[in-house]
Amino acid sequence: MTKLNLIAGEWLAGESEIENRNPSDLSDLVGMFTQASADQLDATLDQARIAQAEWAAYGLERKQAVLNAIGNEMMARAEELGTLLSREEGKPLAEGKGEVYRAGQFFTYYAAECLRQIGENADSVRPDIEVDVRREAVGVVAIISPWNFPTATASWKIAPALCYGNAVVWKPANITPASAVALTEIIERQDIPKGLFSLVMGSGRSIGQRLVESPKVNAISFTGSVPVGKGIAAAAIQNLTKVQMEMGSKNALAVMDDADLDLAVSLALGGAFGGTGQKCTASSRLVVHAGIHDAFVEKLVAGAQAMKVGHALEDGVQMGPVVSEQQLQENLAYVDLGKTEGAELACGGARLDMPHQGFYMSPGVFLNTTNDMRINREEMFAPLTSVIKVGSYDEALSVVNDTNFGLTSGIVTKSLARATHFRRNARTGVVTVNLPTAGTDYHVPFGGRGDSSYGPREQGKAAAEFYTTVKTAYISAGPV
Ligand code: NDP
Repeated sequence: MTKLNLIAGEWLAGESEIENRNPSDLSDLVGMFTQASADQLDATLDQARIAQAEWAAYGLERKQAVLNAIGNEMMARAEELGTLLSREEGKPLAEGKGEVYRAGQFFTYYAAECLRQIGENADSVRPDIEVDVRREAVGVVAIISPWNFPTATASWKIAPALCYGNAVVWKPANITPASAVALTEIIERQDIPKGLFSLVMGSGRSIGQRLVESPKVNAISFTGSVPVGKGIAAAAIQNLTKVQMEMGSKNALAVMDDADLDLAVSLALGGAFGGTGQKCTASSRLVVHAGIHDAFVEKLVAGAQAMKVGHALEDGVQMGPVVSEQQLQENLAYVDLGKTEGAELACGGARLDMPHQGFYMSPGVFLNTTNDMRINREEMFAPLTSVIKVGSYDEALSVVNDTNFGLTSGIVTKSLARATHFRRNARTGVVTVNLPTAGTDYHVPFGGRGDSSYGPREQGKAAAEFYTTVKTAYISAGPV
C-alpha cells in the first residue's frame, strides 16, 4: 500500500508516487510513496500557520510531554526503526539502530529545553522602566533533510523547532521516504494541534523548490549539497526568510609522528568508511606526518582491505552499499579522476559483485596525493579517502585549513602542545583530539565555516538562535 503524506493533519495521496528499493538488494521493494502536489503544499502551509498559534500557547509541560513521548518511543523502537532505516539507506544495522536511538535523544533533550526558556531582564536607561527580553517562535519552519542521516538530521531540526513553539513542514529526501513516514506517524499520534506537523514527500526540484520560495514559510533549515543550498538561500532572500544550512565538507584528520599508531588507523578507518563515507563529517583527507607515514599507510590499507562489505542487515558487515546507482557512478568517476590527477589507488575504489544486486563498492585509499587535487578539494561523499604526506606539524595545520569548507577536523597526537595549538587554530566549526572527525553530541552546537554552513548553529542551546526571534519589552509600572 502506498504510504501517504500528512497534509493539514490528514494522510493524503498526492499527484504521483515513487518506489523505494533497498540499495543492498534491489529485488527488495521497501514501499511506494506518494508525492505531494503544489496545492497540497499550499494547503498544509495555511493550516500550519493556524496550528502554530495554538501550539505556541500550549503550557510548557504539555509541550514537554509531547517531545518526551516522541523521543521515548523512538528509543524504545530503535531496533525496528533502525532496521527500516538500514534497509532503505544501506548503512549497517548497528549504525541504523544507533541513529534512531540518537534521534530519540534529540527529542528528550529538547523536551527538557521546553522548561529552560529563560529570558533576560534589565533596567531601562530611562527612570522607572524595566526591560524584559524573551524569545518567541519564528512561526512556520520548512525542514529539508538529506538521505544520509534520514532520521537523525531531521530530528535535530524537528525537535528544537517544536520545542520553541513552531509549526513544521518537512520535506525529506526522496531516496529515504520510509524513515520519514515512520517518524511522522509517531509525531502525528501525539497531543498536537491538527496540521502542526506536515510531511510533504516529493522531489527537491519541484515540491522542495516551491516550499523554499513560499512567502508562507518563516524559516528554512536545510542539510544537503552546496549547490542546492545556494539555490535555497537565493530563493529565501526574495521573501527575507530566515535560513540555516549545513552543507558539504572536506574534513581532514591530521596524524602526527607522535600519534598512537593503532588509534590513528582505527580513527581514520572509522571516519573515512563509516556510513560508507557518506557523512558530512567523513575523514576524506588524511594529513600524515612523514615520520609515521609508511607505518600508518601499511596498516590503513590492510585495514581497508579487511573491511567486510555487504548487505546492511547481514551480521558482521562493516560497510554497506552506497545509496544509489547515481552516487556509485559519481564515486567511480572520482576514482578515475584521482588516477588521472596522479594519485596512487592503493586499494578498493571498485564496484563489487555480491549475491544480491546492489550498489556495492570497496573502500578505496589514495596515496601520494596533494591538497590541490580535485579529489582533495571536492566533497565526494564516497568510501574514498586520500593520504597527504606532510613534513611537519605546521605544514599539517596549513593543509588542514586549505579548503573552501570547514565543518570538522581532527588531530591524533600525544603532544598537549600540538593538540592545544590545533584546537585553537583549525578553521572548522568542530575540532577533535584523538577522536574521529565524525560523531557529535546532541547537547552542544554543531556547524561549520566557509562553504560548510550558513546561518546560526544547530543543536544544543544554540538552536534557539534559529528557531526563535527575540522580543524586547519595555514596561513602565507607573506610580505606586
Ligand atoms: P541535495 O542537496 O540535492 O539534497 C538534499 C535535500 O534537498 C533533499 O531533501 C532534496 O530533495 C532537497 N532538494 C534538492 N533540490 C532542491 C531544491 N531545488 N529546493 C529545495 N530542496 C531541494 O543532495 P543529494 O541528495 O542530491 O546529494 C548530492 C550530494 O550532496 C552528495 O553527494 C553530497 O556531496 C552532498 N550531500 C551532503 C550532505 C551533508 O550532510 N552535508 C547530505 C546529503 C548530500 P530530493 O532528494 O527529494 O531531491
